[in-house]
Amino acid sequence: MRILLVEDDRDLQRLLKKALSDAGYVVDTAGDGEEGHFLGDTEPYDAVILDLGLPKLDGVRVLEKWRKDGRKMPVLILTARDRWSDKVAGFDAGADDYLAKPFYTEELLARVRALLRRAAGFATSEIEIGPLQIDTRASRVTMDGNPVKLTSLEYRLLAYLAHHRGKVVSRTELVEHLYDQDFDRDSNTIEVFVGRLRKKLDPNLIQTVRGLGYCLEVPGASDRAEA
Ligand code: CA
Repeated sequence: MRILLVEDDRDLQRLLKKALSDAGYVVDTAGDGEEGHFLGDTEPYDAVILDLGLPKLDGVRVLEKWRKDGRKMPVLILTARDRWSDKVAGFDAGADDYLAKPFYTEELLARVRALLRRAAGFATSEIEIGPLQIDTRASRVTMDGNPVKLTSLEYRLLAYLAHHRGKVVSRTELVEHLYDQDFDRDSNTIEVFVGRLRKKLDPNLIQTVRGLGYCLEVPGASDRAEA
């Protein structure tokens, strides 16, 4: 999952980038409203954390512009403005959540998890797809109740496919959501990681859709996935 963090306070930006990266997300950062708007407009993000008081372009304006242009990614506003009228303005501009500074990093991470799973149609932080269980709080995976040890990239790949279960996800999309901008993006490596996941989990869990990409689905699992 790839997250855009728009925050002009350099110390806070550094702290949050580390916390989000440690939690397994790919994080791009922007230090002003114009750069933030540009990135959100041109790169595919699974969620955005947006400060309101930003140089060059105010956060509410950034959000309004994205929504006007049809950008639908979940957006969490993070701001020192905590008057009720500021919150209303934020939600009316298209925000999905709002967190006032100061805040606990744990609460921010929990809200990000909630945004991502809601966007994917899951109600809790435990994702269950047939015999596969993913605890998105602890980044832990079990198969038929047995713990499976995954590297961080294998986990990110599995979590992304699980959040898009039943849909075909292209290699390009995976590369865009699993690696940050600076990474040497080679879509061939995705195939290697898919192979490893099949070996560790189940050979049939991730289907290759020729010419299109990959799809995670377990026969008869769709009814349980909504639980
Ligand atoms: Ca600020």
